[in-house]
Amino acid sequence: MALVTTTEMFQKAYNGGYAIGAFNVNNMEIIQGITEAAGKLRSPLILQVSAGARKYANHKYLVKLVEAALEINDIPISLHLDHGADFEICKSCIDGGFTSVMIDGSHYDFEKNIEVTKGVVEYAHEHGVVVEGELGQLSGIEDDVKVSFEDAAYTNPDQVEEFVKRTGVDSLAIAIGTSHGAFKFKPGQKPQLRFDILKEIEARIPGFPIVLHGASSVPQKYVCEIEQFGGNLADAIGIPEVMLREAAKSAVCKINIDSDLRLAFTAGVRKVLYNEPDAFDPRAYLQEGRANIKTLVSHKILDVLGSDNKA
Ligand SMILES: [Zn+2]
Repeated sequence: MALVTTTEMFQKAYNGGYAIGAFNVNNMEIIQGITEAAGKLRSPLILQVSAGARKYANHKYLVKLVEAALEINDIPISLHLDHGADFEICKSCIDGGFTSVMIDGSHYDFEKNIEVTKGVVEYAHEHGVVVEGELGQLSGIEDDVKVSFEDAAYTNPDQVEEFVKRTGVDSLAIAIGTSHGAFKFKPGQKPQLRFDILKEIEARIPGFPIVLHGASSVPQKYVCEIEQFGGNLADAIGIPEVMLREAAKSAVCKINIDSDLRLAFTAGVRKVLYNEPDAFDPRAYLQEGRANIKTLVSHKILDVLGSDNKA
């Protein structure tokens, strides 16, 4: 099976009331953990790569690793650029084998966002690649994307129809209260998602796939383990999984998960190095990180996304 676009995945997810997990990948162990879980549960997958991941691991390594995972697991996988900042990086990924790209023009004004997004859509569609755009701004930090709580802005439902029509995008990332990173809310603040805005958007563009960024739940299990093994993650708060499950049943077809992978992986590595201070074989601690990723992704597919047996 070759890499696929998200078109068919999203259509089935929309009609079936579930969502596809979009997991960020940075190295071999993370790719293996995610794809082994999805392969076993027969779940379609989106593996996404940020500019930071390309800088860390090299574009070619990531593409080849994902292709290897595809060969071994035989499930539909889409390879996606997360938060493309400009036309150049999107073009580079389109030319370099990706099947989906995001152009993030959310920090521009409405007209400029349309202009930038449209340019990428034209090039991508000529090459059989699909595009995700973004309207509204999430707070938090993810690699090069940094937005303060004060500058975050919910998506304006009045703008979505025009944005989708004029740009020709294939899916739309919206801001309804999710946030990048492991510190999604101010200490003491109650996690909340604006389902009223989601409903309004759904009504304006029926049948159109919606994307949620910053949708890690920050499992307490891993936060506690990281603390137990010498780390400090006080004030880490995620999106409750019941809310994500509810979103997955709606027009939300793609749920991005990055921080949870980082937490799971780090907890595993820390555990080994804490319990076996003399360990210096990288395989000894990396495999613990990989095992945690597999457990986490299985849980997400079964209990949050509902994408098992949909491959
Ligand atoms: Zn994001």
